[in-house]
Amino acid sequence: MPSRMPAPCSDEQVKFLLQLQTLLAQGGFVATYKFALLLALADISVEKGDDSGASMRVSIEAIAEKFVDYYWRQAMPYQGLGAKKAAVLRQNTDRQAAIIRAIEEIRSRCEGSLPRARNDRRTWQSLLAKVKRTIKEQPLLKLQTIGGRQLEFLYANTVVADAIELKPGVAFCLRRYHELIQDLVRGAWVRFVRGLRENQPLLGQTVDLDEFLFGSERADLSVARPVLLDFQEGRCFYCEGVLQSRGEVDHFVPWSLYPVDLGHNFVLAHASCNAAKKDRLAAYEHLHRWCDRNVEQGKELGAAFDEVGFLHDLQASWRVTSWAYGQAAAAGVHVWARGGGSVSLDPRWRGLQGMRL
Ligand SMILES: [Zn+2]
Repeated sequence: MPSRMPAPCSDEQVKFLLQLQTLLAQGGFVATYKFALLLALADISVEKGDDSGASMRVSIEAIAEKFVDYYWRQAMPYQGLGAKKAAVLRQNTDRQAAIIRAIEEIRSRCEGSLPRARNDRRTWQSLLAKVKRTIKEQPLLKLQTIGGRQLEFLYANTVVADAIELKPGVAFCLRRYHELIQDLVRGAWVRFVRGLRENQPLLGQTVDLDEFLFGSERADLSVARPVLLDFQEGRCFYCEGVLQSRGEVDHFVPWSLYPVDLGHNFVLAHASCNAAKKDRLAAYEHLHRWCDRNVEQGKELGAAFDEVGFLHDLQASWRVTSWAYGQAAAAGVHVWARGGGSVSLDPRWRGLQGMRL
């Protein structure tokens, strides 16, 4: 049973951020694994956690999946502007990081396609097993050691049933400050990779290292189009007008807010409706329809995505959407309504089925 705790107060939230800052400034980093682990815990908190302030169990398997996501594109050869050669960037002060080597091998076997690697069950399971082992041997129990001192503020350093338990308030803070934490960690990761002597010949006058390291792998959205067209009966999700042309696949929760391509987050819309919405969250009426669709047809939609090999996880989609609207509500951000432009978010959104977590 997760412990029932109130959400952390402002003072506790500040303390959490200061501890995280200390960890990044003073923790010993010999590889980039610790950065990946921090990002994984933050992402998993968004996808699986809630705002109750409760503790949260995180399986090593879920962390391993995130590691593969992050390192997949980083295991490609890199050649900075004006650099003399291309090679895979070093991620470790000693020899190349084991996870990078394991992914490199699978990458070449699957011609660089992450979905293909995922669909090959045996390959995928053996890769995850390797990554899990490395996570347990390396960053997991060392992350919170600073100068020989244990600063166990994220989780207790014990693995039970192949999982760790985030302390009360941790998932809350990782969700609330997701963007800030992601920026801090990515910045430190880029500086680490830039600083390694072995990487110097590859960097050249690199300016886009951040984009190379973290520009996520995007799925081929055209695969989702016929599925959505069918479920929406040929109509635009936002205005319900007939889609004369093929329509555009739109991230309901914008990619810029949370870059993950999970099936249930997609809707099909007119190019004009999609362009008007831009990178904003959609207003209450649209969210209402999105919730209804996934309550009523989420399962069938998932089965249809399976048939075309498109990744989905309805539970995670509920969580990510409720997190995104919670962030917007907390920050007082306006949302987009068709015909109405920018409007404030109707507080009734919290009562929608699927948003009550
Ligand atoms: Zn439309």
